Amino acid sequence: MLVPNHIKTRNGIAAKTIALNCSTCNNIIKLDAVFLVCEDDWPEFRYLLLKRDLSEVSCEHCSHVYQIKSPLLYEVPKRNLLIFATNGGDDGGVIQGFEIWKSHAKNLLTEETFRRIEQHQYTFVHGLHGLNALLEAFDDESPFSMYVPAPPKTADGSQDKIGITHLTGYIYGNLFFYYPAHKPVSDLSLMLLELASINSSHSSIRWIFDLFETVLFTLGQGHPWLMQEAGRLAMLCGNLVKATEYTSMACKLQHSWIAPTACFLHGTPRIRADGPSQKAYLPHSAKTSLLNGVNQHRHTDIKISPSIKDVGVWDFPHTEDLALFKGYTKNTLLKSHGYTLGKMEMGIRGKDVHVTEQLIALYAHLIWRSMNMLNSYNDPECHKAFWTEYLDTRWNRYSQNLALLRQVLEFRICEASFQIAPAEEKSSKIDANKWQIHLWKKAIDFINA
Ligand SMILES: [Zn+2]
Repeated sequence: MLVPNHIKTRNGIAAKTIALNCSTCNNIIKLDAVFLVCEDDWPEFRYLLLKRDLSEVSCEHCSHVYQIKSPLLYEVPKRNLLIFATNGGDDGGVIQGFEIWKSHAKNLLTEETFRRIEQHQYTFVHGLHGLNALLEAFDDESPFSMYVPAPPKTADGSQDKIGITHLTGYIYGNLFFYYPAHKPVSDLSLMLLELASINSSHSSIRWIFDLFETVLFTLGQGHPWLMQEAGRLAMLCGNLVKATEYTSMACKLQHSWIAPTACFLHGTPRIRADGPSQKAYLPHSAKTSLLNGVNQHRHTDIKISPSIKDVGVWDFPHTEDLALFKGYTKNTLLKSHGYTLGKMEMGIRGKDVHVTEQLIALYAHLIWRSMNMLNSYNDPECHKAFWTEYLDTRWNRYSQNLALLRQVLEFRICEASFQIAPAEEKSSKIDANKWQIHLWKKAIDFINA
């Protein structure tokens, strides 16, 4: 962002004076190029953002008005968030642009301020109007109504497909924040975290830690939640070296992209307890303006596509595809799913771990997800990766005798099919049973092929 008058340099403002030649009167115009603004150090900036078109700069000599759009970093310490307002659109250069702008800011800030910035999670918005929209959503103002969103530029011009996606992230009033880089492991990470949260016996913790380590070895150490949990599990197992390694890595991973969406289905009514029509004892969501860090309330939600409310303000579908964590390939995803399902089946049957309705539901969902992935990846290598991992983990003792393994699986299918659930049984158990049978049937297909 370029501003005409010399701004007072404060700690949380990264700016430098630059000189441009006015092409109309040929005089030199002195401007301040602002790379980063900290909300606390320049509170009046919000006023400027609302009242003035900050992309307009006029020549102090001839008053000619220039339109200069440049990106801006905006830090909101209270919300533990760094916002990158970019004019580049969804053109594949957003992340690179963010890094470049951050390095400009680094040269102009104190070491301490920059260190603080590097600890925040960050998000991307389209230009200063996107920044304004996000800040208004934070202030509980009727979100985005004043904007007529222009469709963002996409590299291939593709349309947002109609559908729903399960996301893990953070609920935040009218918004939901999620990790674009970790979308492919939403279901897996959710089940693993539930498993770890409901088990506390020493033997089960060791068992779960082993599962976490194998999954992280296959997928790579990228997911902040999984790394943090692995650190906690390592500590409970008495492995302090690994606990330190995982937790310090998890801290670094906190500085990652979380994307907001206003297009999600949330079970908690939006009407607040302090509003006129909601009783205090009913579930409610808190006012966004009263919330602190965006990463305070972990949650799972369903994103609806097309993302009508996000378009033009903070929707970057192409950048999201490019931002996927490099460890997530079709092969590693299926391998870790195969391993986890095999290990879970062992653990549940052998009573190595404590299970709850919720965990069983997430386990069934993970089988469903794995089958979906297998259907969509028409690659024999991927199929092999999944089934080899599953069979090796769960049925290793039959590995020398596939004919016998087939018989065992057929017997298990029979056995499970005759398990009639009582009428009051929760549907998640029936569902899990159904998906378990499906998994075994598909395993037989793989052995036969
Ligand atoms: Zn001029």
